[in-house]
Order: sequence, then C-alpha cells, then structure tokens
Amino acid sequence: MKKPFHTLFLFLLFFSSLLYGWAQKTTCSHEVAMREQGLLEVKKELPSILVELKYATSDNFMKKNVYGCLTTAYLQKQVIVKLKKANELLQQSNQGYHILIYDAARPLSIQWVLWNTLSDLAPIERKKYVADPKEHSIHNYGSAIDLTLADEKGQALDMGTKYDFFGELAYPKLEKQFLKNGQLSSKAYQNRLLLRKTMVKAGFMPIDFEWWHFNAFSRKEAKKRFAVVR
Ligand SMILES: [Zn+2]
Repeated sequence: MKKPFHTLFLFLLFFSSLLYGWAQKTTCSHEVAMREQGLLEVKKELPSILVELKYATSDNFMKKNVYGCLTTAYLQKQVIVKLKKANELLQQSNQGYHILIYDAARPLSIQWVLWNTLSDLAPIERKKYVADPKEHSIHNYGSAIDLTLADEKGQALDMGTKYDFFGELAYPKLEKQFLKNGQLSSKAYQNRLLLRKTMVKAGFMPIDFEWWHFNAFSRKEAKKRFAVVR
C-alpha cells in the first residue's frame, strides 16, 4: 500500500471505530448493567425481529411507562440462539412473518413495580400474572420472552386477547374449551398454535396461563446459569 493510501486507510479505520464505539454507547443504567452481564440486544443480533416493549409505553396494564430508559429487548446469548432458530422456523412455515417481542430481560427493580401494582389481587391470583420478586421471574435472568407473531406488514396477528390480558381466555390450557364454545375464534386458535409450535420446536417452554410467555430455561436452570438483572 502506498503511503497516502496507507494513511487514509488508517484514518478511516480509526474514524469508523470511533463511530462504532459511539453507536454502542448507552447511558441507560439498565442497559449498561445488562451489557456488563453479557446480555445481547435482540435487534442487533436479529434485525428482522420486531420489538415493542409494552412496559416502555403506556399501553400496558399499569397504563404507564415503567421501563424508563430501557426501550429495547435484551436476552442472554443462549436465548438469542434459540430465538434465531425460532425465526428460521417461522420463515420456513410462513415466509415474511415476524416475531414481535413485547418483553424480554426485565430488571429486578421493575419486577417489584409490577408486583406492587397488583397488590389488590389475592396472592394466588397475583402470582399467575407476575412472579414474586422475592422468588425472581425468569425474565429477571434474561431467559424468558413475551411475544406474538406479526404479518408481512408488521401487524400483530389475532391471538384472541391482548398481551397481559388477565383472564382465562389467555390460558393456553383452556384454549380447546374456548374454541368449542366460540369465545376463541378458529383463526386466533390457529395463530396461537403457530406461535407455540414455532417456539417449542426452537427449544422454548410454554406456560399454562399466558399464550405470549415462553421460557428458554426453567427457573432452576436459569438460576444456575445466570445472575439476576438488577
Ligand atoms: Zn412473561
């Protein structure tokens, strides 16, 4: 390489690394903490996945933003590997569809806010919707995802209820019953099956009470592998 080109090359390399460093920087304490713990940002790893953190908007059961500066989804690296697989499976079965994430890694401090908001519910009911912060949620380990599917235009598919619908119609274990009595449409039922089939095939575990929630690891396994996100 001739000298002027060599200098120019070095200059460009230096400048681009500066720009890259600047783009990576964040002042959000939640994000800083998660990156330090090795969690990865979903959008950076899997750009075709859509992210709309509901707790970072007022469109949630508390009707207020409780995530503050945290506006994007973070997950453990091993969870991202499974999510990548889910995305590939979805492209095979329904090309052009998107995974739409509503919640991912959730700092423990915010788990307390969610828990305290539901203080009017009986303890057994409360635990169905929000894990007790003293026991930690799998979201607190960056190992659970709340999500739905969206069509080619990015429109969320009909799943029969909204995200965080606190009622039996959201229970996967009662879907067949609701399909039979007409409370759940056949379309919504099929959409739920597609979401669940895709996630389970990719190594995620569904739960009984929320069609949108999937665990990449059991609570015991997550506790063994990862630290809580503070
Ligand atoms: Zn969840």
